[in-house]
Amino acid sequence: MQWGWVVHHLLKLSKLGMSDLVLFWHRRDLRLSDSVGIRAARDRSPKVIGIFCLDPQLLQPAEVAPARVTYLIGCLQKLQDAYAQAGSQLLILKDNPRQGLPRLVMALNAQAVYWHKDVEPYSRTRDRDVAATLRSQNIEVCATWDQLLHAPAEIHTGKGDPYSVYTPFWRNWSQKAKPAPLPGLMDAIGLTDNEQQAALKAGVISLPSPQDLGFDWQNPLAIPPGTTAAQECLEEFVAGPIFTYQDQRNFLGKPGTSGLSAALKFGVIGIRTLWQATLSALAACRSDEARASVETWQKELAWREFYQHALFAFPELATGPYRKLWQDFPWEGTDQQFQAWCAGQTGYPIVDAAMRQMNQTGWMHNRARMIVASFLTKDLIIDWQRGERYFMQTLIDGDLAANNGGWQWSASSGMDPKPLRIFNPASQAQKYDPEADYIRQWLPELRGVETEALVTGNISPGDREHCGYPDPIVDHKQQQQRFKQLYQQQKAKTAS
Ligand SMILES: Cc1cc2nc3c(=O)[nH]c(=O)nc-3n(C[C@H](O)[C@H](O)[C@H](O)COP(=O)(O)OP(=O)(O)OC[C@H]3O[C@@H](n4cnc5c(N)ncnc54)[C@H](O)[C@@H]3O)c2cc1C
Repeated sequence: MQWGWVVHHLLKLSKLGMSDLVLFWHRRDLRLSDSVGIRAARDRSPKVIGIFCLDPQLLQPAEVAPARVTYLIGCLQKLQDAYAQAGSQLLILKDNPRQGLPRLVMALNAQAVYWHKDVEPYSRTRDRDVAATLRSQNIEVCATWDQLLHAPAEIHTGKGDPYSVYTPFWRNWSQKAKPAPLPGLMDAIGLTDNEQQAALKAGVISLPSPQDLGFDWQNPLAIPPGTTAAQECLEEFVAGPIFTYQDQRNFLGKPGTSGLSAALKFGVIGIRTLWQATLSALAACRSDEARASVETWQKELAWREFYQHALFAFPELATGPYRKLWQDFPWEGTDQQFQAWCAGQTGYPIVDAAMRQMNQTGWMHNRARMIVASFLTKDLIIDWQRGERYFMQTLIDGDLAANNGGWQWSASSGMDPKPLRIFNPASQAQKYDPEADYIRQWLPELRGVETEALVTGNISPGDREHCGYPDPIVDHKQQQQRFKQLYQQQKAKTAS
């Protein structure tokens, strides 16, 4: 009996010793649960080792939000813990993956590298280069889709083209069967001591702090990092707010949305897990309103996929407007106005509250994003690409596809067929912050001003001076006329 047990375990150990070493290259999939690639890697071998490359090209302090990097580092810490619990390791490199990854693969004598495909132009070129180098060294490469419920090739028009309008995209996308969540990695085998030494020689480092990377974020994060926190956030949302989402999601001062955008950006939670949660919520609905609310939230998940599919099909979106008319639009706003917009000092309370929410928390409500984007482009007549960049420099959930999609939608330069969308800051505030709770929260200097003045923006010059709050930097009505005039001129010019 005793000997049988020993022989069984010796056999098991020798088998384990023979396992192929598979590296899983994490990028925007910082989790071990509900992951297509992790599952595939584990099916290939129990010896699954994680790797994350801190790519200097993607971590330029002038371009990336400190809140986002702080969240990323927190998620990597949690992922390291998850790997340790599963019996393996997450290794960290600070290098261009084109060089760093093949060097590590060689040092560890890995047989295969797995990763998830991405839609961003930079990632696609990088992945092609890394795959070519690895294959030239006879290393197996396995790249699969994971962050989308449907890969770009699955959703197309009857003619086989990508969709450029959301509604028909949703009709098609919503009718397709969705994949179920996948079991997580629980039982991996880690590196031996010798292999760990080899990894260190190949450039593996301890996880740096955000400050080590040149990013300093002192405020609390809008969402705690890691899969457990994201899972809790989802559970809280589907236990209540999802059933009133349709009514509540636009109210600026209320927590009517999920707050999951950063978790989705970094793939801290699987998209199949989210979809499954919506199906359970639908099954629990007791009214048509509740059902409509859950479906509205599903539509937001589809917007996320729509913009990712769009960026995949039209990579040129990343660098300019989709519509020709906007290519040389005569933007005429000044640098000083842009700085006032960034700082939340335009003199329009609803705009300033939103910008200060983002500056202080790294997150901004969706309705507020639309208001400030319209104000920048249609009231200040400043190029939407400057706003897009500032958002990427500030948002915890800053994501090329969603941010670019949101900005092009707001600027009217994108795929959305509506030619001109101009938001009136006063009507937006009256409708979506009727008690001025949101304005008072983010503009404490205006707390004593009466609600009507805050939502309409009609604050007397005396009150403005008393509160140390600026006069409006432009006049909404005048700027609306000016913008329309420039638009008509540009339209005529483009048509001729
Ligand atoms: C100008 C502008 C810029 C934006 N920039 C970003 C960005 O950088 N990153 C980002 O994730 N979202 C961006 N959005 C979309 C949206 O504002 C955020 O996804 C949302 O506010 C996140 O809050 P939530 O997680 O509570 O969303 P919920 O309302 O709970 O929605 C659930 C999820 O659906 C997705 N989603 C919701 N609305 C949209 C949308 N309009 N477009 C794409 N995906 C959506 C998000 O992943 C979100 O987490 C932008 C919108 C605009 C108008």
